[in-house]
Amino acid sequence: MTLNIDWENLGFTYMNLPYRFIAHFKDGQWDNGGLTEDATLHLSESSPALHYGQQAFEGLKAYRTKSCEIQLFRPDQNAERLQRTARRLLMPEVPTELFINAAKAVVKANHQYVPPYESGGSLYLRPLLIGVGDVIGVQPAQEYIFTIFAMPVGNYFKGGLTPTNFIVSRDFDRAAPHGTGAAKVGGNYAASLLPGQKAHDAGYSDVIYLDPATHTKIEEVGSANFFGITKDNEFVTPLSPSILPSITKYSLLYLAEHRLGLKASEGDVYVDDLEKFSEAGACGTAAVISPIGGIQNGDNYHVFYSETEVGPITRQLYNELVGIQKGDVTAPEGWIYKVEIDE
Ligand SMILES: *Cc1c(COP(=O)(O)O)cnc(C)c1O
Repeated sequence: MTLNIDWENLGFTYMNLPYRFIAHFKDGQWDNGGLTEDATLHLSESSPALHYGQQAFEGLKAYRTKSCEIQLFRPDQNAERLQRTARRLLMPEVPTELFINAAKAVVKANHQYVPPYESGGSLYLRPLLIGVGDVIGVQPAQEYIFTIFAMPVGNYFKGGLTPTNFIVSRDFDRAAPHGTGAAKVGGNYAASLLPGQKAHDAGYSDVIYLDPATHTKIEEVGSANFFGITKDNEFVTPLSPSILPSITKYSLLYLAEHRLGLKASEGDVYVDDLEKFSEAGACGTAAVISPIGGIQNGDNYHVFYSETEVGPITRQLYNELVGIQKGDVTAPEGWIYKVEIDE
């Protein structure tokens, strides 16, 4: 079978692939789950996921290497994060083995949809954990669905890495102190839709959220973490309990220190102290790294390296991480999970 897909021009859009994985939790345990061709979820109208937001999601990618193998990047980290989110929302944890086997099964069943190495694209996997069943009172669900579906997505930066500009939000927070900021839940995204749209309308690519208690420190972008490179070449990224702990961010922290030989740390990043940074970026699975050209902070506009050019350290970090994900650069131990395909 040859697929009629324009690999070079994939965006980030839903595509109904032949197979997805689904497992059900009932009577206190998960069933084995399995692949299905049914792309529609069947659930009670009273499902707590729909009414009270008892749901969580993940995002990870499978990449095709130069030698045409397929590999997942750190799926164990996504499994663990989903478990932390589940504990915060009183949902049953999906065991790591179930999570990784499900991810591999979905990739294997849809392997023809993993974009070719040269295209720069990848297969994006979307795990979802939702509370379902006949419960209308405010209480955790008794039954849950865990599913992973997939779609091929394009390289975020078609013409190469390009910086974009962001705006600091003071009127809106994405999460509350001691709220669910560190949990990967749809509710945080619901809260960020309006500020995100206002930022887009004003010509910025997204919002920079500040710490919700004092509005003095940078937390993160709506769907990506923040990092900066100081003028003396230190990699710094904010530390806060209301930030979503990005796997990309922790990977970059490691690579900055162990591969680029930089000092790398998590700490406070005061929004009025951006002068000390010579480069900055937003990082997450979707874009890997979005270089930040400038940040509008009230009446101040701070430009980092340049509004049009990518800084040298940001570029090195990007090349190192993408090289590992695509199999061109040796990965730190345990970062890569091969998916065996019998083609
Ligand atoms: C998923 C997510 C990120 C990025 O995390 P990665 O693990 O790097 O993909 C950053 N911020 C928020 C709010 C997220 O939901």
